Amino acid sequence: MRIAVPKEAEAGEGRVAATPDTVKKFVGLGADVVVEPGAGVASGILDADYQAAGATVAAPGSDVLADADIVLKVRRPAAAEIARTKRGAIVIATMDPYGADAALKAMAEAGLTAFAMELMPRITRAQVMDVLSSQANLAGYRAVVDAAAEFGRAFPMMMTAAGTVPAAKAFIMGAGVAGLQAIATARRLGAIVTATDVRPAAKEQVASLGAKFVAVENEEFKAAETAGGYAKEMSDAYKAAQAELVASHIAKQDIVVTTALIPGRPAPRLVSAAMVESMKPGSIIVDLAVERGGNVELAKPGEVVRHNGVTIVGHLNVPGRLAASASVLYAKNLYAFAETMIDKSAKALAVKWDDELVKATLLTRDGEVVHPNFQPKVA
Ligand code: NAD
Repeated sequence: MRIAVPKEAEAGEGRVAATPDTVKKFVGLGADVVVEPGAGVASGILDADYQAAGATVAAPGSDVLADADIVLKVRRPAAAEIARTKRGAIVIATMDPYGADAALKAMAEAGLTAFAMELMPRITRAQVMDVLSSQANLAGYRAVVDAAAEFGRAFPMMMTAAGTVPAAKAFIMGAGVAGLQAIATARRLGAIVTATDVRPAAKEQVASLGAKFVAVENEEFKAAETAGGYAKEMSDAYKAAQAELVASHIAKQDIVVTTALIPGRPAPRLVSAAMVESMKPGSIIVDLAVERGGNVELAKPGEVVRHNGVTIVGHLNVPGRLAASASVLYAKNLYAFAETMIDKSAKALAVKWDDELVKATLLTRDGEVVHPNFQPKVA
């Protein structure tokens, strides 16, 4: 049983899907782990660290993918990687499957058994495999650190002999995993924090972190959470009421961090250009949803935009800006899932096809796209 850990091909992706810690565990389960040279460097892991944990570092120029039974990746494999992976190989990654029909078809046609980690059910047993949480938590922290670095003022109130600097006011929009960590981080830095969400459950969580909850709490709000714990897309009437509330609140803020997402849908637009223009010069907005279409009208993916003195930060792959920490957590998530596919006594692959975690995450198998949400449309 051979496990491959390639170096991520995508530009700017410094994360890696295995660490020496998880390599050691895989080796303990009887696997041969082969790591591409330099795969961990951007996460602070040297080839020698992998070797010391029991992995083989592939010879430069050789193909780690060719004989792999399991491929561990951060990102969905690119076409060139798919072509080099053997039929029947298991590939585990964040597959970003929504709107990626052609890529899913290519993986199916190449005979890959592809699993999308972001489709993992959010049940107790799978918490240790929850890549959305492990990465969003870091993104929420980093968003506030990025905002603080751009901000020309201090976050905490400072009373000095030369005068008093007021505390920054931070508003966090979307209080899921990333938003709650953003609240906690902004509070640790000394900001006065308010937050909003459309799910009622968020209210108590926001309060427990010492922030004030600001939201349109009508009947629709009371029913806005799906059985899976996610937000629904809100009605136009709700969006209008929310916009009115946000418009008056946002004008008084120094820092805004937006994190609002709806699974499988474009991110809700929460901050209009007029709202940006109502903010004081020197204010900072960080849009963590920019990769999903953005919560902020003027945000641009991968750019830091200045508009009327307001800075709008739209960094891509924010967890990757903390690659070393992100890799440690991501690799643990992947190990916890991959381990369930290995028969420990036979030291061989034994995927439990009926396991609810396998069924929820399996995208392609035996030449077909098998996940019900991503079936090719019949013409
Ligand atoms: P997410 O990334 O899908 O969305 C981020 C936040 O944006 C959510 O809180 C959502 O309600 C909010 N949002 C969506 N539309 C909005 C709008 N129009 N205005 C304001 N806010 C809006 O969410 P997430 O961080 O993945 O968390 C989703 C849920 O899953 C939460 O209830 C979280 O507590 C829960 N969760 C459960 C587990 C578990 O049990 N294992 C693990 C992690 C998260």
